[in-house]
Amino acid sequence: MGEVISPVDGAGIGVVPGCSVEDVDAAVSRAAAAFETWRHVAPGDRGRLLRRFAAQVDAHLEELALLEVRNAGHTIGNARWEAGNVRDVLDYYAGAPERLTGHQIPVPGGLDVTFHEPLGVVGVIVPWNFPMPIAGWGFAPALAAGNTVVLKPAELTPLTALRLAELARDAGLPDGVFTVLPGRGSVVGERFVTHPAVRKICFTGSTEVGTRIMAGCAAQVKRVTLELGGKSANIVFADADLEKAAATAPYAVFDNAGQDCCARSRILVQRQVYDRFLELLEPAVRAFRVEDPARETAEMGPLISAAHRDRVAGYIDGADVAFTGSCPDGPGFWYAPTVLLAGSPADRHWREEVFGPVVSVLPFDDEADAIRLANDTEYGLSGSIWTRDVGRAVRVARAVESGNLSVNSHSSVRYWTPFGGMKRSGLGRELGPDALHAFTDVKNVFIGTEE
Ligand code: NAD
Repeated sequence: MGEVISPVDGAGIGVVPGCSVEDVDAAVSRAAAAFETWRHVAPGDRGRLLRRFAAQVDAHLEELALLEVRNAGHTIGNARWEAGNVRDVLDYYAGAPERLTGHQIPVPGGLDVTFHEPLGVVGVIVPWNFPMPIAGWGFAPALAAGNTVVLKPAELTPLTALRLAELARDAGLPDGVFTVLPGRGSVVGERFVTHPAVRKICFTGSTEVGTRIMAGCAAQVKRVTLELGGKSANIVFADADLEKAAATAPYAVFDNAGQDCCARSRILVQRQVYDRFLELLEPAVRAFRVEDPARETAEMGPLISAAHRDRVAGYIDGADVAFTGSCPDGPGFWYAPTVLLAGSPADRHWREEVFGPVVSVLPFDDEADAIRLANDTEYGLSGSIWTRDVGRAVRVARAVESGNLSVNSHSSVRYWTPFGGMKRSGLGRELGPDALHAFTDVKNVFIGTEE
């Protein structure tokens, strides 16, 4: 922790000291004190403050986007979308405090009502792959529900989160309501888990660390939401619009240089169109524009770090490379889009999350075979189904064990709809109309009315 490096050229772009356990404890104390006031701010006023925060993000959208291009190597187009997503998610949940209604339940002898009570201090732990949106999916609904938030950005990408904290303050959020604490996972992140005043952990990151966090939370019966890894399938049936399926497949896996938990990194193609699909896929991959992410035309930037590039390259050793795209030479952590042919579902690149611009292709025989292969993974986050047969689309969508599926599209994340994983891809759901329930506990109150 310390120097922040740009993956675009390997240059240092700033120094961000990591917080200590003592820093975290002091910030959690301030957040716990702020909670007592924030939870009682009138719902309309809390909503208004979140709308002002959204307006601040909107007014600084280009600045935030450029910061992410530099710090994370995201394309400028993506980075603008990401900053816009923080604004939109804040606006969306700004409407929630005034709609956080409970039930009135008919019971004998009195009146029974439920309340959705905020939890207290919520700890949000963010990975480096989408620093802005993932932060927003945690802090916006948590704040709307009346919690205060401490947030830890990833070691490699702290800059946009720190800027968002300044914008929140400029918008008028009271002191201690939203605090960003950069630092190591093993220091700041672990302290969120062990600190008794942090009542919930909202974690996005690897399945390995998520598993450890869940075990840590168990000791205090701490609430936890986990958004973890993925190895999602893109299933292409013979009756699909093959041209469209092949033209869009690169975007479904190489976007953000494949550093996307929803990346469709396993392409399953029905055997009778397998050769034709690869013929169509090759020009689309070769044309994929990997270049300086600040250019308006860029479709993909570099990987996040030199160490990560080495890790990604390790998956290619001994693999059957069908074809690759291109990438710039020189400084920066570049890696060309790569298409691998899987010899069998046992291949390491078919089974493990590569988290880079690498996709594996495997043929299948029929619908049952496609479902079996798609589900033959510990993960269950996302996926796509390409077919013109509506019945099949519905059958396969119901059968694939995954939290977010799209038919004839590669859409995964829309802030209006719930997002999250099955199996080892996660626990709980973010976004959508019900997200506040993950940041509240239901309280039941019975009022006797008998004389
Ligand atoms: P990571 O698990 O290494 O780190 C994620 C965050 O956890 C970082 O902020 C890190 O500092 C912190 N951390 C590390 N050790 C910790 C500990 N012991 N206690 C508490 N916090 C700790 O993951 P990463 O490499 O930053 O991100 C890549 C992973 O994230 C991939 O597996 C990807 O699939 C996953 N991801 C999932 C989603 C989703 O929504 N499901 C979204 C994006 C990324």
